[in-house]
Amino acid sequence: VSELEFSVPEEIDVIITFTKAKDNWQLADKFRRCVASLVKHSSVMLAFHIIGDKDSQQIAEKILKEVDSGTAAKHRVVHLDIDTMAKELHSIVLPMQKYFSYKPGSYYSDSLFFLSAAIHRVVPETMHRVIMLDADLKFREDIAKLYQKFNDFKEHNVIGIAYEGQPVYRHTFWKYRQENPSTRVGDPPPKGLPGFNSGVLLLDLHRMRNSKHYNSLINEQVLEEQTKKYSFKGHLGDQDFFTLISIEHEELFYVLPCNWNRQLCKYWRDKGYESVFDLYFKCEGPIYVYHGNCHTPIPED
Ligand code: UDP
Ligand code: MN
Repeated sequence: VSELEFSVPEEIDVIITFTKAKDNWQLADKFRRCVASLVKHSSVMLAFHIIGDKDSQQIAEKILKEVDSGTAAKHRVVHLDIDTMAKELHSIVLPMQKYFSYKPGSYYSDSLFFLSAAIHRVVPETMHRVIMLDADLKFREDIAKLYQKFNDFKEHNVIGIAYEGQPVYRHTFWKYRQENPSTRVGDPPPKGLPGFNSGVLLLDLHRMRNSKHYNSLINEQVLEEQTKKYSFKGHLGDQDFFTLISIEHEELFYVLPCNWNRQLCKYWRDKGYESVFDLYFKCEGPIYVYHGNCHTPIPED
């Protein structure tokens, strides 16, 4: 492997879902904070790809124009044909929508919540590696350092993703866990399989395209069989898919350190999981990215 492949490029492709933002100033504020923090700390050029309806795209662009580029980093917006992408995506992710969303198979636009899982099939082949982010994040460190984690991928890793920071999947898998008391499924880290949180994603599109194995799992029969086997019923979109397929195919995922997706939501703490909550929630060391999930406020510092 050449040395070049291991260096950070001059520009990093960043994908952010920003949709239904019209009349939603809370979402716009989150997005502003997210992109401002990205630009503030980045040592490289950022190419923002905004996934959303036309109104939201315009709002995003306006916000990005207002973001201070007086620092070293510059940024630009790349325009995507979202309608075409959503239509292409729709047929590919239909089986996922069936098992991992509230409203299975309804709108084209809802397929966008599964974009990360099949993005390699709907964006230009020239795109190699991208970082996909939630809008409710705040960066405190250079995204180029996050990008360098692509170098830590092991041979079969195609996606980098952090563990879920609450016992969400312990809950989801309760039936399987009851019938299989010695399972790692739903157990906390480091030994268990707590499931994933998709707020920060490192997507190696070349590897996703080339992995016969990964692509074989985007399949109605496979998902039907796996959801049955693990008594899985979800509604969290792409992260449900990643969590479920990782049980039998851990090697596909690079586990991103929690510091790069420090989730703050404590919704599950007082829902009967008090005694184990901290095993999932704790994250030692410096925080590089705050994730204000379930609308949790992010510290000012
Ligand atoms: N999102 C959006 N419009 C919406 C809801 C969500 O664009 O109406 C995007 C946004 O990027 C958001 C992400 O989807 O960060 C995931 O939703 P959210 O962060 O609210 O979920 P949580 O992290 O709390 O589970
Ligand atoms: Mn989020």
